Amino acid sequence: MAVTINGKEIAEDVVSKVKASAAELIESTGITPGIAVVIVGEDPASQVYVASKGKKARECGFKSVQHTLAEDTSEEELVALVESLNADPSIHGILVQLPLPKHIDSGRIIQTISPDKDVDGFHFINVGKLGTGELDTAFVPCTPAGSMLLIERVLGRDLSGLNAVVIGRSNIVGKPMFNLLLAHNATVTIAHSRTKDLAGICRNADILVAAVGRPQMVKADWVKPGATVIDVGINRIPAPEKGEGKSRLVGDVDFADAATVAAAITPVPGGVGPMTIAMLMANTLVAAYRSVGKVPPRF
Ligand code: NAP
Repeated sequence: MAVTINGKEIAEDVVSKVKASAAELIESTGITPGIAVVIVGEDPASQVYVASKGKKARECGFKSVQHTLAEDTSEEELVALVESLNADPSIHGILVQLPLPKHIDSGRIIQTISPDKDVDGFHFINVGKLGTGELDTAFVPCTPAGSMLLIERVLGRDLSGLNAVVIGRSNIVGKPMFNLLLAHNATVTIAHSRTKDLAGICRNADILVAAVGRPQMVKADWVKPGATVIDVGINRIPAPEKGEGKSRLVGDVDFADAATVAAAITPVPGGVGPMTIAMLMANTLVAAYRSVGKVPPRF
């Protein structure tokens, strides 16, 4: 049976390092890392995410500001708010919770965020830096950054000679994951819905990252014996065994099945999920360090 990679514990490690480094920054410069989270509308899932980001930021000793805007806020109003946060020296990280209402062009809002405060890593400047290997000055999207840290905990920082397969080519997860693995010297294949013989390609992977959004798609016979499997997927499926109308969360990997073949595997929940918010805190801390020209800690 594979070792279960404990994302919750590793995320707690990251958060305690963030806390200690924030305290040190405050002590040495008087600068408190500040994060602003902007939410437009009343999507209940987004409200929960935003509340937990604010709570975690306060736990890290950050200044945390939330801007809650009405569903009918205009694009111009949102642009004006982001510009005012760009100009606010007490704010080092800006996060605009997605999805935005349909009448707002998300792309324009993301590109309005200063690249130096873009702790989600979605601005073209940060995407370009990651793509060209400028990792020391980039912000990397939090979910792939957290997944990479889990891989490092199992296999170390240098993945030379290892084959990695990423299933999924989204801008938020798949593509940045591809670039991170490449930067760590893995030989990387990115697969997607048009890929032929997906199972065969996955069986070649020493590192298999699933970011698809298809519940329990990856089975044991897709996994190379001894592989490290990172399951990014979060899917809610019916769980009649828990009672009528109940549901539960599963990943893109059939955990029980794949764990019979893999050497190490992340669970869902408790794997990549907790790493995402921890890396948001790490990115905000890094932004605050960079704002005063100090070298940030490495995570
Ligand atoms: P997405 O934008 O929907 O992208 C899904 C990708 O999977 C696409 O590239 C798609 O291919 C590919 N795909 C879909 N069906 C496939 C199939 N049958 N075979 C092979 N590839 C297939 O999703 P995402 O935003 O990257 O998220 C992926 C999963 O991660 C979701 O379950 C999401 O909930 C989860 N997630 C988790 C976290 C976290 O914090 N843990 C954060 C973000 C996302 P095409 O490009 O060809 O359509």
